Amino acid sequence: MVTRLYTHPVFLEHLTPPGHPERPDRLRAIERVLDDEAFSALDRVKAPEGDQATILYAHPENHVARVRAAIPETGIASIDADTSASPKSWQAAVTAIGAANAAVDDVFDGRAANVFVAARPPGHHAEKTTAMGFCLFNTAAIAARYAQKRHQAERVAIVDWDVHHGNGTQDIFWDDPSVLYCSTHQMPLYPGTGAKSETGAGNIVNAPLAPRTGSETFRDAFLSRVLPSIDNFAPDLIIISAGFDAHHRDPLAEINLTEEDFDWATGQLMERAARHSGNRLVSLLEGGYDLQGLAFSVAAHVGRLMKG
Ligand SMILES: [Zn+2]
Repeated sequence: MVTRLYTHPVFLEHLTPPGHPERPDRLRAIERVLDDEAFSALDRVKAPEGDQATILYAHPENHVARVRAAIPETGIASIDADTSASPKSWQAAVTAIGAANAAVDDVFDGRAANVFVAARPPGHHAEKTTAMGFCLFNTAAIAARYAQKRHQAERVAIVDWDVHHGNGTQDIFWDDPSVLYCSTHQMPLYPGTGAKSETGAGNIVNAPLAPRTGSETFRDAFLSRVLPSIDNFAPDLIIISAGFDAHHRDPLAEINLTEEDFDWATGQLMERAARHSGNRLVSLLEGGYDLQGLAFSVAAHVGRLMKG
């Protein structure tokens, strides 16, 4: 079975102000590295149009209406100090959701062994009612609920190794024990949440990492907190909130991972997906702001997914 890759040209048309780290060039860097013949077996598919109704799986209607109203006809509008929207941002965000939901369909219907979605804007900071941290809607949360509603998944695990805590995903599933949320992230760092003591309904597992720690501390956190929680939970699907800003080159944080760490963590989650989830694994791009660090990390991650 193949590893599938979803992309779409509209993901380049979500524009942010000049100098903003979350920029279209991130996807161009990923596209370039995945052009190498080492990735010729990737099953490349253009993301389908998203179903807007599925946004309501994770957000109330007033949030959807607020984001829609914030989309400008021209130029770039700010939603908060970090988060902005351009005329094509709505279509980009909805297509990112369409790709993530299609990836869930693919792994449940046996069309792909696993899937990587290279989309923007990212999603893990979007809370139920707040767009923030470069994120408009919480794509991973919507995809988890989509798996439950459309494919009768009882338990979904979301593993978030972005260097920032996924406050949005934690907020959405805070009192929902059918979704396990595990996060490794630098602390202190934006957005300030993600302490070990934040445990929701026993379904939230935070593994904060001190600034300037590296591979060993990250792998320890994975082995001692993330993986045992997954084994305990026995999910029907694993979704990765795959941010690559814990790479040592990244300008937004101070964790010193290398691409080998993302290769290793991917392998560990594939092993758990094989054990518990019928191999079902969907990976969604979140952050990663140094173009070389991002490209090398995605190459290691996707290369490992393709090894099956
Ligand atoms: Zn991040």
